Amino acid sequence: MQFVKTPNFIKRVFPNLIWDIPNNKKEIYLSFDDSPTPEFTYWILNLLSSLNIKATFFCVGKTSERYPEIIDRIINEGHKIGNHTYSHLNGCYHKVESYISDIERCRKVLSETNLFRPPYGKIYTWQIRKIQERYKIIMWDILSYDFERNINSSKLKSNVLNNVKSGSIIVFHDNENSEKILKENLKDILLKIQEKGFVFGLIS
Ligand SMILES: [Zn+2]
Repeated sequence: MQFVKTPNFIKRVFPNLIWDIPNNKKEIYLSFDDSPTPEFTYWILNLLSSLNIKATFFCVGKTSERYPEIIDRIINEGHKIGNHTYSHLNGCYHKVESYISDIERCRKVLSETNLFRPPYGKIYTWQIRKIQERYKIIMWDILSYDFERNINSSKLKSNVLNNVKSGSIIVFHDNENSEKILKENLKDILLKIQEKGFVFGLIS
């Protein structure tokens, strides 16, 4: 099953995961998965800085270890980071012990955060309990599908702009699958979200 907008029945099955952050301030939450990526992360940071927007970057431990200067810049510019496992593991294919130890390995690199997002959104109930001893698990309300091979600009834009509402957590990807489509469209999407009167908050 693939959803742009996370359906309510899924939110009800996993009520202790954070799918959105309801508020009456028209505040929404921008997030990027799979950072850091040399060059592309800097492109994203430059864009966000030019629009005065803050975001949360769910970072992979392995690449964070390799590019600490990118992580420093994300933090220094006022954005937040989150743990996205060390090896970008799919929770469905790993037992609790190995999954948790991969998250712990990432925590040694990114020790400052209490936010976690499971790669591919895949996670089991018994993993959730263990992870929640240390982390808030941040899912999403809107998946842009920026990573999909056949996505085009108008579909990407409508996925986000037709579904955004106060409290939405939106996911984009800081990886090579999404780089081209985001470089073409992200600025326009963020400007249109601002035109609709939304403000960008930080997940905490
Ligand atoms: Zn990911």
